[in-house]
Amino acid sequence: MSRKLPVKKQLERIYANVHLAEIFTDHNIQLVPLPSESYFKGHCPFCELQPISDQPQSDCSLVVSRPQNTFYCFKCQQGGDAIVFITQLNSISPLEAIDYLSAKYDHRISHD
Ligand SMILES: [Zn+2]
Repeated sequence: MSRKLPVKKQLERIYANVHLAEIFTDHNIQLVPLPSESYFKGHCPFCELQPISDQPQSDCSLVVSRPQNTFYCFKCQQGGDAIVFITQLNSISPLEAIDYLSAKYDHRISHD
């Protein structure tokens, strides 16, 4: 068993290694890159139904920023980082969200 890292360290590792767009995709939320490629858009999991067709998404309200690693919905004004997203999506506490992300993406996070 590896020693559990302090929360602050876990957070740093998550932010540095896991992009929010990847987390969205892993939760079956389809994102499409905008022309700048720094931003993606998709249907908001909090206020919009997922599209049935695989042809997204002219009317979606959610924007994910790659440089900032944050999301924002222009319709319901939900927004934040990966921890906020997981907390709200799964109705869990921020600490649980950090544990969840660390466990899910730990193989991707470099150990030092
Ligand atoms: Zn929304």
